[in-house]
Amino acid sequence: MPSAPQLPLRCWAEIDLAALERNLRLIRASLPAHIKYVAVVKADAYGHGLHQTVARLMHAGADLFAVANVTEAAAIRELGPGWPVLVLGPLLPEEDKFLLEYDVTAAVSTAEEVARFEAVGRAAGRAIAVHLKIDTGMGRLGVWHEYTRELYEQIRLAPHVRLDGAFTHFSSADEDPVFTDEQRRRFLTALRGCPGLDFSRLLIHADNSAGLETAHGEQPFNAVRVGLLQFGILPHPNSMLARVHTEPVFSFRTRVGIVKRLPAGTDISYGRTQTLQRDSVVAVLCAGYGDGIPRACSSRAQVLIRGRRCSVLGRVTMDQTVVDVTDVPAVQCGDEATLVGRQDGAVISIAEFSNWSDSIPWETLCSVTKRVPRIYQTSLGL
Ligand SMILES: *Cc1c(COP(=O)(O)O)cnc(C)c1O
Repeated sequence: MPSAPQLPLRCWAEIDLAALERNLRLIRASLPAHIKYVAVVKADAYGHGLHQTVARLMHAGADLFAVANVTEAAAIRELGPGWPVLVLGPLLPEEDKFLLEYDVTAAVSTAEEVARFEAVGRAAGRAIAVHLKIDTGMGRLGVWHEYTRELYEQIRLAPHVRLDGAFTHFSSADEDPVFTDEQRRRFLTALRGCPGLDFSRLLIHADNSAGLETAHGEQPFNAVRVGLLQFGILPHPNSMLARVHTEPVFSFRTRVGIVKRLPAGTDISYGRTQTLQRDSVVAVLCAGYGDGIPRACSSRAQVLIRGRRCSVLGRVTMDQTVVDVTDVPAVQCGDEATLVGRQDGAVISIAEFSNWSDSIPWETLCSVTKRVPRIYQTSLGL
């Protein structure tokens, strides 16, 4: 927090930790009982704040945490021992030794990684825990599924590398169930081609938020990796997941700085890209792209003021955004403007906000800047 916490908020994100906890419990309840819940909390828990989010998810019953890198893993470790932490991204060679120091699990995709981890484990006299990552059509991390056996044999020959799990990642779980099924099939075929692999000893996982929709709970899957959905956001509109009634955790708000009258014909903001068509009342908001309102929202987005939708006029600038309040009576300096969230019965979802900048909720959440304090709340729910 800044040094003067008594200063009023100009632009802030509200994080409802009670809603987060209810979401985890609901998602859990929708899954078979034996399925472990891997909470994906990379990128500062999708911008919600790693410490507060992870502490609440630990309380709510997450079984494991998944992060992008060792730095994030170390931050979770500071919160408490006991929870397994899986690093999803590749490690730099200088980072290898921190796997042991922080007692975290690495994903392996290559023989080179196995050799490196074996060397570090041997030097320390301890085993490094790994999950075998299989590329079934994402073309990013993981060993290509047809080459899995070779990498598996290498792991078997490394006494200081201990195989605790295997996983894959879907490239289009939210839009292509047929290809997702094909990815599942490739994954299982690859695993079944590994002689002596004892599935009952391993964590075997593939589904992310969108994948949950098409999951069949089939053996040997025994874990899911949930990111976006636990924050109450559906991976795509019309999602079947809507039957799991998660609640939004994140709201994004700012305040009105000034209200003024402008005559028809006035050009608004940099570049004079928008001209007022009528005599107008405009409000200048205390937030811009320096806070995480994408510049691509210029002349497109809307905000809620006094429960009414107001259109953004002209370009979003670093610290200010101009909106049309001609039709909203009595707007004053200091009024709250909601960018994402509910206000007086109206709502702007993060999906709608993201659309205005041709973006996706994942990116929107990661784009809320450091200048924006995260305010933690606990709502009672319904
Ligand atoms: C980010 C990520 C997830 C979580 O995805 P959501 O769509 O947010 O649920 C799962 N697995 C991997 C490998 C990831 O990188």
